[in-house]
Amino acid sequence: MDHHSTLARIGHHIGGVPVADGDAPAQDVTNPATGAVTGQVALARAETVDRAVAAAKAAFPAWRDTPPIRRARLMNAFLALVRTKKDDLAHAITAEHGKVFTDAQGEVERGIDIIEFACGIPQLLKGDYTEQVSQGMDNWTLRQPLGVVAGITPFNFPVMVPMWMFPVAIATGNTFVLKPSPTDPSASLLMADLMVQAGFPEGVFNVVQGDKVAVDALLAHPDVKAVSFVGSTPIANYIYETGARQGKRVQALGGAKNHMMIMPDADMDKAADALIGAGFGSAGERCMAISVAVMVGDAGDRLIPALKARAEALKIRNGTDLEAEMGPIVTAAARDRIASYIEAGVAEGADLVVDGRGFTVPGHENGFWLGATLFDRVTPDMKIYREEIFGPVLSCLRVDSFAKGLQLINDHEFGNGVSLFTRDGHLAREFGRQVQVGMVGINVPIPVPMAWHGFGGWKRSLFGDMHAYGEEGVRFYTKQKSIMQRWPESIVEGAEFTMPVAR
Ligand code: NAD
Repeated sequence: MDHHSTLARIGHHIGGVPVADGDAPAQDVTNPATGAVTGQVALARAETVDRAVAAAKAAFPAWRDTPPIRRARLMNAFLALVRTKKDDLAHAITAEHGKVFTDAQGEVERGIDIIEFACGIPQLLKGDYTEQVSQGMDNWTLRQPLGVVAGITPFNFPVMVPMWMFPVAIATGNTFVLKPSPTDPSASLLMADLMVQAGFPEGVFNVVQGDKVAVDALLAHPDVKAVSFVGSTPIANYIYETGARQGKRVQALGGAKNHMMIMPDADMDKAADALIGAGFGSAGERCMAISVAVMVGDAGDRLIPALKARAEALKIRNGTDLEAEMGPIVTAAARDRIASYIEAGVAEGADLVVDGRGFTVPGHENGFWLGATLFDRVTPDMKIYREEIFGPVLSCLRVDSFAKGLQLINDHEFGNGVSLFTRDGHLAREFGRQVQVGMVGINVPIPVPMAWHGFGGWKRSLFGDMHAYGEEGVRFYTKQKSIMQRWPESIVEGAEFTMPVAR
């Protein structure tokens, strides 16, 4: 018997109910720690995307007209449910993504932050009002939802990144179609189930599993008014161009190469801990991971031995092990891609201080393992410096001044996150002002902004104008309308042919 026929089918969630879509093509879902195939995810055809968009469109008029305070109450009910099911969500993440369980719990927590933000939507949707802009006339501004909006999300945060989008989109009165990564699709269905339990009307939140076929169907669909995307830069670029050509609003967050600059006056112990955690946490598969250390002056000589010792001592295990500090790589293909970057780094002459290749975990020989990898004396022309590796590979560069380090960072094509470790307040201030990067940490390695501040990179790390969540998110998912109103007793008699001015 074909073993696939016994595997769990991971389908869609459309109009408030699960849809198996048994005839659709499917893709294996694996547990990266064991290499075992654990399920099969449906890959929606365009007709299924149409069904989901139609369900969301049908739900829109009533949802738009639901008072914001009532939308917020449902969001509060969802918040309470997510809190009680936090560990179920975290287990689903670890089982399909591989990140360690405590990190998965942290991911859910950061998603919860955004739900909490969305619970305050009545305050956020308050408009502006000016009384008496002319005799007897008032002018006010309000923000209205767009309609059906879509979210297309990456494998590396299967709960948090969708939660950057749908709580804000739905609280502002839109209806939503989520297209998660087919690599770790199960958490999306748990979220959909909790949305139903919270009492959201059917069709307000829908999930369509799939690949490029589903994405292209969403991009081409005239009823999808806006697309939020998070993923790699080439796809982000494609989504932005294609969506814009179809007249949609698009925010497309892309890849990264986040630098951490360490000044010679920094606390080297803290800097080493920060580099190890930010470089190898979640196996480096975070868009805010630090993948480059820029070591100024003698910082390199002092840091490299500490980094080597810590990288070699990392506890790399099945993510379900509560002692684990790093889990497996998400897929065999990703593991092989990362290993080929390590090969390229060696070939280009970087100094391989710790080699993660060939690493395995006893009892889990079929898992997708890679140890922590540390390169020293990397130069800006090398492929391992220029390109996003998205794995547990930390590249160290040495520069002799703050100005040269800053220039390096500003010259890189990506501008997602960056960090500076120093004890010098003036340098820190100048760094914050001059660096061409969207999210900056001073003695903070992973400066992911809080829910009410908004998340977004610069340069080729974000296509579009608006950052995700926060007030930028509210603006992205709403359009502004201005109303001018005058009631009888108007002082104007007859038609006016000149440009109206205040009287
Ligand atoms: P990806 O670009 O391969 O996939 C992202 C989404 O796009 C998925 O839903 C996928 O199914 C879809 N997709 C893939 N190929 C497509 C194609 N040819 N046409 C249309 N759709 C396609 O990214 P990934 O590997 O899932 O995630 C890792 C990437 O995401 C990294 O580059 C990382 O930096 C980036 N990321 C960025 C942020 C950010 O906030 N800037 C956050 C998380 C991840």
